[in-house]
Amino acid sequence: MDTDSYIFTITEIEEIPPRLKRTFRSGKTLPLEYRRQQLIQFGRMIQENRSAIEEALNTDMGKPRFEAGTSELVPTFTSIVTALNNIEEWAAPEKRKVEEWRSNWETMVYPVPKGCALIIAPWNYPFVLAFNPLAGAIAAGCPAIIKPSEHAPATAALSARLVGKYLDPDAYIVVNGGVAEATVLLNHRWDHIFYTGNPTVGRIIAEVAARHLTSVTLELGGKSPVVVAEDCDLEITARRILCGKVQNCGQLCISPDHVYVPRSIIPAFIEALKRAYAKFYPENVFNTSMAWGRMIHPAHHNTVIHQLEKTMGTVVLGGEVEGETRIAPTIVSEVAMDDALMEAEIFGPILPILPVDDVDEAIKRIADGPSPLVLYAFTNDEALQKRRAPVHLSGSIVINDTYIQLLVYELPFGGFGESGNGQYLGKSSFDAFTHRRSLLHVPTSYVFAPRVFFEDPLPSSSRR
Ligand code: NAD
Repeated sequence: MDTDSYIFTITEIEEIPPRLKRTFRSGKTLPLEYRRQQLIQFGRMIQENRSAIEEALNTDMGKPRFEAGTSELVPTFTSIVTALNNIEEWAAPEKRKVEEWRSNWETMVYPVPKGCALIIAPWNYPFVLAFNPLAGAIAAGCPAIIKPSEHAPATAALSARLVGKYLDPDAYIVVNGGVAEATVLLNHRWDHIFYTGNPTVGRIIAEVAARHLTSVTLELGGKSPVVVAEDCDLEITARRILCGKVQNCGQLCISPDHVYVPRSIIPAFIEALKRAYAKFYPENVFNTSMAWGRMIHPAHHNTVIHQLEKTMGTVVLGGEVEGETRIAPTIVSEVAMDDALMEAEIFGPILPILPVDDVDEAIKRIADGPSPLVLYAFTNDEALQKRRAPVHLSGSIVINDTYIQLLVYELPFGGFGESGNGQYLGKSSFDAFTHRRSLLHVPTSYVFAPRVFFEDPLPSSSRR
């Protein structure tokens, strides 16, 4: 292993999955006491190395320390504490109620660990997206390999060093590297694969998993739309959309990608955005005192800049660029559906505004596209809020805010269709790595006596 980058040789990597399998088969990760002890160690790992982790995140992507703390360390720590507080209840066997005639049978559901897990993480939130799933794996009793992104090497190297120091090396290990290393890992048979990243690689993961019929969680990206209704509170709407857009310089899976605004309120909306921007960034955004990071690398920077150069819309705010990785928050108005900014997920600090006649037109346009990770809506109209739900499937719906849903770990988080498959956060993280195994114990005294079920009366409401 290279001791600077913590990258194993391919031969060393080949030996790791069998080691984890031996650990799982030995039953070591199963007792709740073991899981609790690993979770406590995991929590200590964060408490005792907060500063070093923030430093690594800053090195990798200029992430301001405050943002690194609130968006990466706090949610991971919360997941660990939530698992510690609830593991007993989550892992408890459940007695299922059955029909009277078999009520003396034993009918139980046991939440059991799926087995060995592979967690593959992306670069944009390199700590929380690697370690939030790990909290679920540990709580569920699954050994796991974490494969961080090669595009955030400082965080990846630190993660490997810390996991080696704090967690059980027989069960939890960070394997660094890029596609080659990921491919070696994927060639092994896993009991669950948890992948976060872009949908193109998501398809590769799904195909590889299909070879062994391995279950997968796919946390993918997509263009999450925002619908602004005429009745919304414009000041709050503008502030909250801008706040979501500027997180991590727009390099966020749940970033408000683009916004549909009724023509009648576009000028007022833009003015409100300008006021919010002036409050967020009273000085030049590139000043070192401003909490503003950068694009992960020049290639990604160029992709975003290229989209901006090709747009037929009008830049009404921002648009400044500095060096090879810094783009100021930028608002583009009068953007059409066939604009360059609408071709792919923007994944940068550009917010296109698409004019529509009304909310219904916006909803129709969204329904024509693939299912986004999240659908944001700003309205005070209760009827509109309710109507939105069944119209189009998205991973989730957030009304009157953006980005904040990541803090609400009581709700499952995940995409649907093009934006992913499976969910996590809070108990859903435990569930992602858990198989609910039924146990049926039939008394030897039971004599098979079939009933004619189809003669039971149907509820009257089912008649046409
Ligand atoms: P990335 O390039 O870091 O790739 C993600 C991981 O996949 C890395 O560990 C990488 O090594 C691995 N990988 C890449 N190619 C591979 C291959 N051919 N085979 C196996 N593994 C491979 O990150 P990215 O994909 O550019 O991440 C950004 C994307 O992730 C965006 O689309 C974003 O919306 C999405 N995302 C989704 C969520 C979510 O929770 N739904 C969170 C963050 C990011």
